[in-house]
Amino acid sequence: MRVLVVEDNPALAEGLKQDLGHAGFAVDCAFDAREGLFMGTQEPYDVVVLDLGLPDGCGLDVLRAWRTRGNDVPVLILTAWDAWHQKVDGFNAGADDYLGKPFHVEELIARIKALIRRRHAAVHPELSVEGMTLDEERQQVSLNDGTVHQLTGTEFRLLRYFLLNPDKVLSKTRLTEHVYEYDGDRDSNVIEVYIKRLRGLLGKDRIETRRGQGYVLRGKP
Ligand code: CA
Repeated sequence: MRVLVVEDNPALAEGLKQDLGHAGFAVDCAFDAREGLFMGTQEPYDVVVLDLGLPDGCGLDVLRAWRTRGNDVPVLILTAWDAWHQKVDGFNAGADDYLGKPFHVEELIARIKALIRRRHAAVHPELSVEGMTLDEERQQVSLNDGTVHQLTGTEFRLLRYFLLNPDKVLSKTRLTEHVYEYDGDRDSNVIEVYIKRLRGLLGKDRIETRRGQGYVLRGKP
């Protein structure tokens, strides 16, 4: 899952990148409205955390520009301006959620996860398909045979994306786009290595290869 943080305070942006990174998200930061607008238009983020008071403009204008162009990425507005009319303006501009500064990062992470679940129409807080459950806090997968496996950061992000999209064909490009950060190693061949590792954990038939199309995580073993 990829998150774009648009925030002009470098210390806050860096802190969020670290905290969200530990929670298993691939995080890019933009430090002004222009860069935020560009990155949010260019890259397929799963959630955007958007500050309103930016040095070169208002975050609401960035949000309106995305919505006008049909970009429906879930957006959580983050701002010190927690007057009620700012919230109304934010929701009217197309925001999905709102958090006033100061905030607890745990609440931000919980809200981001809720936005992702809502987007993927998943009702349960735990991500699971028959035979396996992903523990997002511990970044572990538990299998029906009682075994629990600790996942690396990339394995976790990849498996979470599969579990949000069971029985769908996911191309290597799409998996790469949703698993890696903008400046990360985006060689799509690396995905094959991680698919192989996940097959080693989950059983080799659980992730099918569709030649020329991509991969499918089977919802049932
Ligand atoms: Ca600001």
